[in-house]
Amino acid sequence: MRFPCFHLGFVLLIVCFSIPLPAADAPSPADVIVTNARVYTENPQQQWADALAIRGDKILAVGDKAKIGSYRGKATKVIDAQGRLVLPGFTDCHIHFMDGSLGLTRVDLNDAKTVEEIQKRVKSYADAHPDEPWIQGMGWTYPTFGASALPNKKLLDEVVPDRPVYLVAFDGHSSWANSKALAMAGIDRNTVDPPNGNIVRDKKGEATGALKEAASDLVAAKVPKPTRAERLDALRRGIHEANKVGLVRVHSAGQDFEYLDLYNELRKNGELNLRFYVSYFLDPPGLTPESVALIESARKEYNDDWISGGVVKTMLDGVVEAHTAAMIDPYSDEPTLSGKLFWDPDKYKATVAELDARGLQIFTHAIGDKAVRLALDAYQGAATVNHTKDARPRIEHIETISAQDIDRFGKLGVIASMQPLHSYPDEDTLGIWARNIGPERAKRAWVWRSIEDKGGVLAFGSDWPVVTLNPWRGMQTALTRQTDEGKPEYGFVPQQRLSLDDTLRAYTRGAAFAGHREKSEGSLEVGKLADLIIIDRNLFLIEPTEIGKTEVLMTMVGGKVVYESPKWKNPAAAEKK
Ligand SMILES: [Zn+2]
Repeated sequence: MRFPCFHLGFVLLIVCFSIPLPAADAPSPADVIVTNARVYTENPQQQWADALAIRGDKILAVGDKAKIGSYRGKATKVIDAQGRLVLPGFTDCHIHFMDGSLGLTRVDLNDAKTVEEIQKRVKSYADAHPDEPWIQGMGWTYPTFGASALPNKKLLDEVVPDRPVYLVAFDGHSSWANSKALAMAGIDRNTVDPPNGNIVRDKKGEATGALKEAASDLVAAKVPKPTRAERLDALRRGIHEANKVGLVRVHSAGQDFEYLDLYNELRKNGELNLRFYVSYFLDPPGLTPESVALIESARKEYNDDWISGGVVKTMLDGVVEAHTAAMIDPYSDEPTLSGKLFWDPDKYKATVAELDARGLQIFTHAIGDKAVRLALDAYQGAATVNHTKDARPRIEHIETISAQDIDRFGKLGVIASMQPLHSYPDEDTLGIWARNIGPERAKRAWVWRSIEDKGGVLAFGSDWPVVTLNPWRGMQTALTRQTDEGKPEYGFVPQQRLSLDDTLRAYTRGAAFAGHREKSEGSLEVGKLADLIIIDRNLFLIEPTEIGKTEVLMTMVGGKVVYESPKWKNPAAAEKK
């Protein structure tokens, strides 16, 4: 593993060369100065600095304390970073922001590893929200329920018997309802399974409360839709959560396109503290005159540093765990299955070519090696017929890949948008994911290192709310490919571990490139947006296993401080706690 260290000599050298000759007269003052910092700039020409100056929403100067001090005027606000590490703010390149934000207003079952813990959280939420007609939540995982891997309605009835409870699994592929919710959805022993769904039943034919795939919709259809005010409130909370973990921009891969006006309303109110790149979600059979009109008008209306459209997301397949990811060869544990492409390949290729001809960026969800190959073929074909250059089409997830496709990312200029925490080698990944595809293909699990070594650009994200939006957890996983307990001993497919530099880049400079924003974002250099974070530890000096615990002390977006941790605002008080 390439763990770079903080070489003091090297830093001094850089600083010495970057000191300019004294200016004849003092420069006009900055609005904000961040000083006494260890700034890791992500600018290859000036990797380290110890201060920077900001005017308006942009960076005015980066350099040593003396140089930056010369920008200090009477009204300049000075932020003393107290020797902490300063980084460019992070971008999350794959997020379902509205869903995640709504989840914050509901029962959060992330990391609830026992039935008792789930019951406790559901009950305390229900007690705290006596007027809420439905109790909703998300984040339970299959191993919590032992051998059956599925929950039972009785466990929820014990804590909330009188109101409907509806809890979605972490992956969104199953849900769990109590008796009241099943009754309200009209599900009883006579209900027929919907197409593409399964109402799980006990030996007597009674619904157990576990619902798979489309069967969840029977209950979901009865849940009241959030109001505009509730959505706005959720977004405010989501933005705060994002800023708190160091995010300054997100690339939405979800349904947020429908809510662009809500984001715009927050902007008008001065509440938009996060930048949004929002994709239009396109399902097969493809474009219609109406969808083209929607995509084009959003691109025209939203095209600045805060909200932008002009990108289309589509899905080619499902997930490995459910045998729905499209594989070239059958699944190892279930040789009758190889997954199914969601699109007719020719139709997909034609759609990609049309989007590319329009100059729209494309995000394709592809998890199985067959889906990944089809996306690469389609992108290659589109570039050939349209003679497009630098379109930077993206493949999202890339959990498996054929060996011969790895170098095509670099060759074709296709961005690899991956979510490190999905590879977290827990029971789910090693027991189900790796079992399903078998040991030979599992050797090419989440091959970010190989893609990058072959010239491909990596862009990292979370896929929140499937997993936490905290990038530090993802970062640790990209470096170690181990669980928090250090399993497996050398990491899951350890040759794919990334260095700290490479991982940081995938959340900053690489991410900016992946969203066509590298001219204004992704690094701390003169003229770029003043989007930065101060964190509580020097990543270059600690063990990779400590990275996941990183806390952000301050987040700045466009020169404005949008988050300060209690530790940072008032260190003495935080110390006493
Ligand atoms: Zn997603």
